[in-house]
Amino acid sequence: MATRRISGASLDHGAQYFSVRDPRFAALVARWESAGLVQPWFTAAGITRYRGAEGMNPVARHYAAQLEILAPSRVRQVELAGPAWRVVTDTGASFSASALLLTAPAPQSLALLAPIADRLPPPLPAALHSIEYDRCLALMTVLDGPSSVPAPGFIRPGDSVISWLADNFLKGVSTRPGALTLHATPEFSLGHWNEPDELCAAQLLTAASPWLGARVLEWQLHRWRFSRPTATHTEPCLFTSDPLPLAVAGDAFGGPRIEGAFLSGIAAASALAAVPA
Ligand SMILES: Cc1cc2nc3c(=O)[nH]c(=O)nc-3n(C[C@H](O)[C@H](O)[C@H](O)COP(=O)(O)OP(=O)(O)OC[C@H]3O[C@@H](n4cnc5c(N)ncnc54)[C@H](O)[C@@H]3O)c2cc1C
Repeated sequence: MATRRISGASLDHGAQYFSVRDPRFAALVARWESAGLVQPWFTAAGITRYRGAEGMNPVARHYAAQLEILAPSRVRQVELAGPAWRVVTDTGASFSASALLLTAPAPQSLALLAPIADRLPPPLPAALHSIEYDRCLALMTVLDGPSSVPAPGFIRPGDSVISWLADNFLKGVSTRPGALTLHATPEFSLGHWNEPDELCAAQLLTAASPWLGARVLEWQLHRWRFSRPTATHTEPCLFTSDPLPLAVAGDAFGGPRIEGAFLSGIAAASALAAVPA
C-alpha cells in the first residue's frame, strides 16, 4: 500500500484498490470509511473497489498509528537465544521476545529463518520455499496536462507490456492532473528486470502513448521484486510452537491481495494469542 509524491502529484504505485469479501474485513473497512480514510472508487461485476481517500499509504499509516514502529530499521537476523527469540536489526539494535511474527514476503522470511531452519519443523521452511512471486515494474509519470485515460481512471490494455494504467487525478488521489501509474505485465517485468531505468521507462511510455494525452514531464521507476505470489499456501498462516512460538503471515497465505494479507494477519494473531503465557 504505497503512495509517492512527485512534483505535487500523488501516485499509488503498489496496490491500486481493494475489494471486500470477508465480513471481518468488511467491518474494518466500514470503520475506515466512516473515518474518511477510504471510499469506493468503482464497481465492476457487482464488486466495489475501494481506494484510499488520499492514496493507499495513509490507510496503512493510520492503521499502524498505535504501534511502535522502528522504521527504517531492517531485521537482519533472527536467532533462538535460549528461552526467547532474539531479533537483530541493521542498526545493531536487538530485541528479545517470547513469540515471533514474520510478515515479510515468503523468500525474505525464509532467508531470515535460514540459519535456524534445522531447528524448525521441516514443513514450515518447506512451505516458505515453495512460494514464488511475480515481479512488477511500476512507472510513475507526471504529465504537463490531463491524460486521455477515460473515467473512472484506469485502463487494462490487455497487451504484453502494460497490465494496468491508472490516472491518479481521475481516481481522486492526486490534486494535480496527469499523474499516471503504469504496471508492466509479469512477463515484461521479468524480461526487462535488469535493464536500466531509462530503457524500461521508454518502452513503457511508448506502449502507453495512446493514453498519455500530454507531454511527459517526469517519471520514476519502482521495481516490486515480490509483487504477487503466483500460488498461495492453503493455510491462512504458518504456525509452530516448537522450539518457540513462531507465526509467518502475509498475502502468500491469505490470498494475493490486501484483504488476504489482513485475513492472514488475523489468523496469525489468533494462533499467537492462544499460546499459553
Ligand atoms: C504492483 C502491485 C499491485 C497490486 N495491486 C493490488 C490491488 O489492486 N489490490 C489488492 O488488493 N492488492 C494488490 N496488490 C497486492 C497487495 O499490495 C499485497 O497483497 C499486500 O500489500 C500484501 O501485504 P503483506 O503485509 O503481506 O506484505 P507487504 O505489503 O509486501 O509487506 C511486507 C513488508 O515487510 C517488509 N520487510 C521485508 N523484509 C524485512 C526485513 N528484513 N525487516 C523489516 N521489514 C521487512 C517490507 O519492507 C514490507 O513493508 C498489489 C501489489 C503490487 C506490488
